Amino acid sequence: MRCLTAAACLLVLTACQPAEPGSAPTATAPDHAPPAPSEPADIPACPADADVMAGWDERAPPRRVFGNTWYVGTCGLTALLVTSDQGHVLLDGATEAAATSIEANIRALGFDPADVAYIVNSHEHFDHAAGIAGLQRATGARVLVRVPAVPVLLSGRSGRNDPQMLELTPFPPVAEVDVIADGDTVQAGPLTLTAHATPGHAPGGTSWSWQSCEGERCLDIAYVDSVSAISDKAYRYLDHPATVDAFRGALDTIAELPCDVLITPHPLASDLFARIDGKAPLQDAGACRRYADTGRANLDKRLAREKTGAAP
Ligand SMILES: [Zn+2]
Repeated sequence: MRCLTAAACLLVLTACQPAEPGSAPTATAPDHAPPAPSEPADIPACPADADVMAGWDERAPPRRVFGNTWYVGTCGLTALLVTSDQGHVLLDGATEAAATSIEANIRALGFDPADVAYIVNSHEHFDHAAGIAGLQRATGARVLVRVPAVPVLLSGRSGRNDPQMLELTPFPPVAEVDVIADGDTVQAGPLTLTAHATPGHAPGGTSWSWQSCEGERCLDIAYVDSVSAISDKAYRYLDHPATVDAFRGALDTIAELPCDVLITPHPLASDLFARIDGKAPLQDAGACRRYADTGRANLDKRLAREKTGAAP
């Protein structure tokens, strides 16, 4: 385990105690029933035909994805709340402008933002991390990210190890950040969420897996980070073979994740709203594998274009 400070080590030890054998939150976990979700009628549904890269700041109606997994993000950016009666975990903070919507969505579902114990992140770009500073203040939660994302969250700026550095919007620095490593788990009461290092799109890219249940039916939820190989005008993946190797390793990891339900940081990239609304199957055991396959094909295409000089 790599830790930046003794305090960070201490926290990770606290946050990552392995689950006792047989105590994983599967069918035995309390299927937390929130206080009467009041899905607010005054929040318009997101446009069905929206572009995958639109609606980043527009509040989406909060709703249940499955069991204790809730959508609290915007029309274009995912934020998830995984709940228990002993604390919640919030995944991603979207944009700075979206933070108040996420907080309002948590409240609208009947949950108290003060009960959010941890905030974790898919990757350290402004569209998924800029809201975290405000959400940490609103909740008092610990923010846990992998080592490469720590300096980015603390400064709001990415370094040259990020393929998109020159095009990324700076964002409000997060006051306090702690470290989580590949394979560590975040635990809050009965919740266990596992961190999977999936760098490539961004150095700190992290995917998350956990199980949510409705009665006896438990599903493996996979919140899988972005896998697009895109860059600014100055970055060539070919100049960074170790990054490419790590990217390929990440895609292999994603293909093997426990994955009944794929959720992506851009909800429309996995057709999430239609699936939540029952217009497409929520459950699809092959979704992570296909998502990884697509990422692999796009990475190969990108490298081929760099070889001919067509990219970046
Ligand atoms: Zn990104």
